[in-house]
Amino acid sequence: MKDFFRLNGKKIFLAALALSASLFYVSALAFYQNQGRAELTVSFFDVGQGDAIFIEASDGTQILIDGGPPNRILPLLGERMPYFDKYIDVVVLTHPHADHVSGLIEVLEKYNVGMIIESGVDYHTAEAKMFQELVKEENIKSVIIDRPVDLNFYDGAVLRFIYPEESFVGKTLQNVHDAALVAELDFDGKKILFMSDAEKNLEKRLVSEGKIGDMDVLKTGHHGSKTSSNDFFLNAAKPEYAIISLGARNRYGHPHPDVLSRLAASGAQVLRTDLDGTITLKIHNGELSLQKEK
Ligand SMILES: [Zn+2]
Repeated sequence: MKDFFRLNGKKIFLAALALSASLFYVSALAFYQNQGRAELTVSFFDVGQGDAIFIEASDGTQILIDGGPPNRILPLLGERMPYFDKYIDVVVLTHPHADHVSGLIEVLEKYNVGMIIESGVDYHTAEAKMFQELVKEENIKSVIIDRPVDLNFYDGAVLRFIYPEESFVGKTLQNVHDAALVAELDFDGKKILFMSDAEKNLEKRLVSEGKIGDMDVLKTGHHGSKTSSNDFFLNAAKPEYAIISLGARNRYGHPHPDVLSRLAASGAQVLRTDLDGTITLKIHNGELSLQKEK
């Protein structure tokens, strides 16, 4: 069974709940968005060692996947969002490690968020607890992924959550990466796969279940660590572009040289946030383009 959430109606509905100021908000946003922007923009923010990915549609829908480590995300969001926009439709927490959840705490403190999407896996760190407390305090709707779920938004765009397929709510795992949310963005014939910190176990499972098809862009798993982006996985995903999100001179030795050679052998063009800065991907009229900050 699949659950469907329709975001466009929800966004307008939520905006309409606030009083007359929201009318200004909506019309000002529409004006801002008509300045020749791409239909869909995906920014792989340079947050150092961590992940933070921001999806924007030209109807104003905004989805943030992870928030990176502390003190990086807010200025980056500030560059992408108009000053009067204090609302993000959907925030996705792929898993509660500090390099994904810490920035989201800052986001929840500064922005109103329409919906949280997460796995609900148990994780006992101060950051993970603080995030959950904020979600409760601010009474944000939380959607748990425990089966395939399609998030439908702008003009046929789908953010398809393909994993987990079981409930991790309240469960403690030895490796919390095995409960990481994996999602595929499908728009106008282009596909982008967000692997969060998935490692070999999860890659194997998804490939053996036939869940990994031909991708245009791959956000590689786990910051280029050697347990991710295995040959069998790359053979299934066949990405044209592979994006690694990581910090310069990180203490984990990411990206592992084996990963770089596997990616090179797959024929993918590799982009890295540590060398290229924020990487911006645009889809417009069925064409995909990538831009590096550096
Ligand atoms: Zn990570």
